[in-house]
Amino acid sequence: MSGKHGKQKKWSAESVQSVLAHIQSFPKVDSHYCRKESSREFLDQSLSISEMYRLYVERCKRDGNADIVSSDKYNRIFTENFNLSFFRPKKDRCDECVAFENIVAPNEDQKRTYAKHLKSEEKAREMKTEAKEKSKRDREFGAMCFDMQQLLPCPKSNSSTFYYKRKLYVHNLTMYDLGTAEVRCFMWPEFEARRGASEVATCLAKFIEEKSKGGCRDLSLFSDNCPGQNRNRFVAFMFCETNKRVQLDKLSLTFLQKGHTENENDSVHSVIEKSTKHAVIYSPEQWYAAVRTARKSKAPYYVEEMTHSQFVDYKTMSQQVKNFNVDDEGDKVKWSNVREFTVYGNDAQALYITYKYGGTQKRVDLQRRQRSSGGNSHATVTEMSELLYVTSQCGISKLKKEDLISLCQAGLVPVAYHSFYKSLPLCSADNEGSDED
Ligand SMILES: [Zn+2]
Repeated sequence: MSGKHGKQKKWSAESVQSVLAHIQSFPKVDSHYCRKESSREFLDQSLSISEMYRLYVERCKRDGNADIVSSDKYNRIFTENFNLSFFRPKKDRCDECVAFENIVAPNEDQKRTYAKHLKSEEKAREMKTEAKEKSKRDREFGAMCFDMQQLLPCPKSNSSTFYYKRKLYVHNLTMYDLGTAEVRCFMWPEFEARRGASEVATCLAKFIEEKSKGGCRDLSLFSDNCPGQNRNRFVAFMFCETNKRVQLDKLSLTFLQKGHTENENDSVHSVIEKSTKHAVIYSPEQWYAAVRTARKSKAPYYVEEMTHSQFVDYKTMSQQVKNFNVDDEGDKVKWSNVREFTVYGNDAQALYITYKYGGTQKRVDLQRRQRSSGGNSHATVTEMSELLYVTSQCGISKLKKEDLISLCQAGLVPVAYHSFYKSLPLCSADNEGSDED
C-alpha cells in the first residue's frame, strides 16, 4: 500500500493513541434521542470531523505535544476505529429519493414507482398551499405546520471545552400559522420532559383548544411523517379526545414527507440559529428570551414555557381505545402508510384516515369491538386525565449532571448558575425509554 505521493508518513503509536483517546473523549448523545436498532453511536450535532480535528490540534498545542497527525490520518482513525456519526435529529433528504438516486440503472418499474412518489409529494404541497390561501380568506379556517427544532444546548458558548461535555438540552416545538405567519414555540428543558409522542400531543391539544376559543371551526395541521413524534395512534387519540371537548367541525393532520417540503418551521429555526450564533447561553430561560427576540421583521415569536406537570400521558390513555386496527370495511389499518387523519365534530368516536393525499377516507370506529380482544377494554375513554410525569420531572442522566457540574467547577459557567445545575433532578433508570413507536 503506497500513498498517492510516494511513501506515506508513518505515525508513531503514541500519536495514533492520542487521536484514539481524543475521539473517545467526546460524549455521545443520549441513546433515547437516537434510533434503537442502530449500533452506531452519535456525537453532538455541533461537531464535525474537521471541527474535531481543529480541537485536536488545539489540545496538542496546549499540552505541548508536537507529534500532531495530519487531518487525513485523523479522519482515517475516526472512520476505521469507530462506528460514530454526527447526530442529526432529522434527516434532510427523503429516503425514497435517496434510494432511487442510488440505483445505477433503474428499470421501468422502479422509474414508475418513483414518478408516482414525486407526483404524490406534489399533491401534498398543493394541499398545503391551498390550506394556506384558504386560511388567509376564511377566519374560521386555520392552517398550521409544526415541527421540533434541533436540540438547543445549555450552556452554549464558543469555548472548546464545552465540546467535551454533555450538555443540557432545551426542546422547542414550533407551530407556524400559515395564514398569519404568527409563530408559537412550546419550549421546555429536557429535565422537565422528553420529546415523544405524548409531549407533542399535549402541546398540540393546548394549541387546538386555543384556536377553537379564537373562533376557528376547521383546522388543518401539517407535520412531517416521523412515526415517533407525529404519525402514531397516540396523536390520533388526542385528536379525538380534544375534539370531544372543543367540537371543531373538522380537525385534520397531514403528514408530509421529509425532504420534500420547504417547511416554514425550518425558516423559524434558522432565524433562531442565526440570531443566537454568537450568543452565550447558560439557562433555559435565556433560550426562551433569545427565541422571543429572534424575529425582527414580523411579530415576535410567542414562547410558551412547558413544565412536566402539564404533559398528558396519551400513550397510556390510548390503551382505552377498543379499536385502532380495523376500518369499517374490515381492512387492517396500515399506520405506516397513513397520509392524513381527520376527526369530525359530528362523529366523535371515529378517526378518518387516507393512504393517499386527498384520497378516499376510511372510517375507523374507535369503539368497535374486536373479536380477539380480551376483557381489558371495558373502561370508557372519557373523563380520564393521566399525567405523563406523575410524581416528578423526567430528569437527566448522572453522567450528564456530572459533566455540567464539572463545567461549573472549571469556572466556565458563572457562579450565578451553579445552583441551577447542581439542583438538576436525576432520571430514574426506567425513564430511559425510547420515543420510537
Ligand atoms: Zn422523495
